[in-house]
Amino acid sequence: MESLLSYNVVRLKELMLSINEKPYRAEQIFKSLHSGLTFDEMTDISKNLRQILKENFISQPVEIHKSVKSMDGTEKFLYLLKDGNVVEGVLMKYKYGYTLCVSTQVGCRMGCKFCASGLDGLVRNLTSAEILGQVIAVNKYLNGGIGDKRKIINLVLMGSGEPLDNYDNTIEFLRLVSEKGGINISPRNISLSTCGLADKIIKFTNENIPLNITISLHSPFDEERKEIMPVAKKYTIKNVLDACDVYFKATGRRYYFEYVLINGKTNTERHAKGLISLLKGKPCHINLIRLNEVKENDLKSVTDKEAYRFLGMLEKEGLSATLRRKMGADIDGACGQLRQKYLKEKD
Ligand code: SAH
Repeated sequence: MESLLSYNVVRLKELMLSINEKPYRAEQIFKSLHSGLTFDEMTDISKNLRQILKENFISQPVEIHKSVKSMDGTEKFLYLLKDGNVVEGVLMKYKYGYTLCVSTQVGCRMGCKFCASGLDGLVRNLTSAEILGQVIAVNKYLNGGIGDKRKIINLVLMGSGEPLDNYDNTIEFLRLVSEKGGINISPRNISLSTCGLADKIIKFTNENIPLNITISLHSPFDEERKEIMPVAKKYTIKNVLDACDVYFKATGRRYYFEYVLINGKTNTERHAKGLISLLKGKPCHINLIRLNEVKENDLKSVTDKEAYRFLGMLEKEGLSATLRRKMGADIDGACGQLRQKYLKEKD
């Protein structure tokens, strides 16, 4: 059964007209769905309409199955979907508010060596309703409302999955989450992270969604990048940077890079120099991330000292870069770790 959470107000209006209901019901239902209500809880519509909706649609497709709190306040969620699949999300608490990390696929087919999400490959794409449902479920869990009353103010599409590999559903989600009358999170407060599907980045340029685009680079050298990110066999670093140029020319928005520091593999002086010659003068910002070690591989993270040394090398050459705060390390904060644990315990 389809979830009504994937409907925008226009589609809801069409639906209302097709069942002889007043079109203004659409706004009411949209508001209720984005507030996290089930059909039974929508007491401002008739019992008859609730019944029709219940028989034909799912209201809330995502349920919080489990939550784990970290010492630093970060909270991790395992969500249960209607077909029994699980995905995960991370809530980060910053001084200015909450940021939720959202998943776009069950599993992932990109196969990055350091990442736990792709260990079993791709299971399936999430629907737009299931991506949105994560935001709605956590907002409700935090006793948040819609519009100004929402508790989550920033979103990062950095959970499991490759958002641009689930292109249409991701775009539909981005339009729904920023639509007036619902939870209404502005694209400017959303970051979309991609492993660098160059053609999709160019396609995205034409969508007119002013969010922050972030590319997982992880190495300035094609040969080494291929070793840790199989997708680099299809798209060279030049392909990716050319796409970023197109994006900047069309949108005027600077872009971001994520760069995971893996001991001995991505954090040497040679790598810093490579990054500098690649990115110096480009309208970009680099986020350095310490590898979150996962037990399924033997890649090692870096010490704080090494991380700051690498950052220093970039800054000295005038690159705009920051080292991400380490959060949630005690709760399997890295992509896909909690789901892996769940799948193993279930067996
Ligand atoms: N597929 C998208 C978004 C999901 S991954 C992408 O590749 O960008 C989000 C970010 O987390 C990426 O930069 C990814 O490389 C990083 N990441 C994945 N596993 C990690 C780990 N174990 N430690 C640190 N960062 C990790």
